[in-house]
Amino acid sequence: MKRFEIELSDAQNRMLIARLNREFYKRCSPEAFYCKIDGATTVRELEAIAKKYGFCDIIDFSAFSPYSAKKIMRILTKALYRFPRIVGRINYVGSYKGYEELLRKLGEGDPECVRALGLQHIFSTENARELGALGLEICKELWACADVSLAAFVHLAGCCNGFLFDSTDYKDYAYFDTIATLRRNEQSGFHPKGCNTFESVAYHEIGHILDAVCNFTSSEAGKKFLERYSSEEVESGLSRYALTSPDELVAEAVSEAFSNSAPRKIASEVFAKLCEIYQNN
Ligand SMILES: [Zn+2]
Repeated sequence: MKRFEIELSDAQNRMLIARLNREFYKRCSPEAFYCKIDGATTVRELEAIAKKYGFCDIIDFSAFSPYSAKKIMRILTKALYRFPRIVGRINYVGSYKGYEELLRKLGEGDPECVRALGLQHIFSTENARELGALGLEICKELWACADVSLAAFVHLAGCCNGFLFDSTDYKDYAYFDTIATLRRNEQSGFHPKGCNTFESVAYHEIGHILDAVCNFTSSEAGKKFLERYSSEEVESGLSRYALTSPDELVAEAVSEAFSNSAPRKIASEVFAKLCEIYQNN
């Protein structure tokens, strides 16, 4: 994966660190949020709620039905209340297409786009352009190799990360098809027990975000922690997909911890470790 590496001044660095470590500010109970979400009738109202309460820098539900957008909002609420610091890594929420459009604009140095992402005090216009161009390359690579499905998380220097969702309106047969595939993947052990819903795919992506916040798989201690599980144990006790890499193991564990009412041993242990690191950081 290509990386974004530029020299920053001390002041710019401080801004960047503050940005990455910001926290979601809880101003009401999560139940009050679910009420607001349920009461909204259009995607614009849902975007307004997300903007008002600072769920992310940019949210664009224009490609979604209110039904799908509400699902995404509930997932975000649950995750942000559990781990308020992940807000520092969620810059854009929307569709794959919308994200590419944003990156294209950033690549052109669009000042409105730079301001919306709050990058004006951290990067020069030239840096922002480079970031947009790099993001488009990363997307191209990802779309080509990964089985991009219901949701994806794109890490772009922590400054223009995308939490992306498939904007297909899951109605009727399309919905049944998707659910059937998710169930098959769960039953065959490709994905963890209990992970057969749109939400569980999103929680897998939240797992990647939490991993980044906790610096878990990127640290020696994290890698060592995961070495306690043999491939056979991971395959039978978590999922086949978790064998892909340590990052995927963590994401699958988080997905099971969120989705399964009685998460199994590996999911419970990995999730507990992440929670411990999150609390102590
Ligand atoms: Zn993943």
